[in-house]
Amino acid sequence: MDRSARLYERARRAVASGVNSPVRHYDPYPFFAERASGGAVWDADGRRYVDLCGAYGAMLLGHRNAAVVSAVSRQLRRGTLYCMPTAGETELAELISRDYPSMRRVRLVNTGLEATMAAIRLARGHTGRPKIVKFDGCYHGAHDYALVRAGSGVAHYGLADSAGSLRAAARQTRLARYNDAASLEAAMDDGVAAVIVEPVMANMGVIPPRRGFLRSVARIARSHGALLIFDETVTGYRLGRGGAQGAYGVRPDITTLGKALGGGLPIAALGGRRDVMESLAPMGPVYEASTFAGNPVSVAAAIASVREAARLGARMYARLDRECAALASSVSDAAASRGIVHTVNRAGSMFQVFFSDAPVTDRDSAMAADRARFARLAALLRERGVFVPPSQFEASFLCHAHTRADLARATRAYGDAMGGLAR
Ligand SMILES: *Cc1c(COP(=O)(O)O)cnc(C)c1O
Repeated sequence: MDRSARLYERARRAVASGVNSPVRHYDPYPFFAERASGGAVWDADGRRYVDLCGAYGAMLLGHRNAAVVSAVSRQLRRGTLYCMPTAGETELAELISRDYPSMRRVRLVNTGLEATMAAIRLARGHTGRPKIVKFDGCYHGAHDYALVRAGSGVAHYGLADSAGSLRAAARQTRLARYNDAASLEAAMDDGVAAVIVEPVMANMGVIPPRRGFLRSVARIARSHGALLIFDETVTGYRLGRGGAQGAYGVRPDITTLGKALGGGLPIAALGGRRDVMESLAPMGPVYEASTFAGNPVSVAAAIASVREAARLGARMYARLDRECAALASSVSDAAASRGIVHTVNRAGSMFQVFFSDAPVTDRDSAMAADRARFARLAALLRERGVFVPPSQFEASFLCHAHTRADLARATRAYGDAMGGLAR
């Protein structure tokens, strides 16, 4: 029995349901992480894995990025929490507004969940309307407003939503089909406060928007007087410094950022139009608050990470795009050469393979893929020293710190694993 197995047995007796977030579990038990560096992670038995999970996209720069580590160390010597305003919070807000011109005012929170929950409440409070429209399969965090036909672990475990969620909240949530503007038009009326969308779906595998789809979403939301919320928790600082809104040229009213913003520390943000954001308390009537919001350690990490993304700039993003395209096409070739029916979707440095013969463009087509086969692929990759998120409904991510050797190893592992699947 290896150490991870023993650690898991012990965790089962102390940690609720064995893990602190559902997607971390896979059968028969997950390996326990011991440390990570650059583009790799080591398990409790000393095995090294090329990390294509990258903390679900948060580790854009890789683990233990030098600029992030030194900023955090400097801040640790000056204290970890004051709950008083700091200059760093303003500096970070200024940097975010520079990279995301639609985010004229910024509020810092701790997690993507908080950011989208506040954004939805803000939209309701600002417009005085009760409803929101979300897209089937988009995931916006584990709170009642958004746990309606959500992706990620909710889809993985076959839960339509969550037990205990308020039906009253779900009744105010309308659904539209991703990549289908007509379905959005049909869901709209004058009671809709906001349309919220992941501009690239990253929680049903990877599903990019069809050409013109995001522009149609913006036009339809506006024609009904609803606000447009881009949930860029994954895509922010990932698809480029300016996120999906920069890449696709669509300006939302409210944006949420998370994951890659903090260089691996917990921090997220919402921001948007000045008039909308000023509806937040204390100046406005919409309440949102947190003890740890804007905590100086996370802020220091985020400033370092955002500055590093600016320094590395378009060249880093172009290289990640090229490397991910190359990996995705070699994965596809490996499957094709063994006669395995598949589809590979990609956006920038994130990709996912589906065992399906039809294009994957929305939740229904993602659900039609062979998920058991994907779970076998993930297990075969682990045996070959490559860690990908163990669920079909997540994305794999490249990071700045992956070396040529890491990418070569991943390419080889996918090739061998496809061979194993074909047998
Ligand atoms: C991860 C995620 C969230 C939730 O963020 P947490 O930090 O896990 O609360 C929200 N929206 C999207 C698109 C995400 O991928």
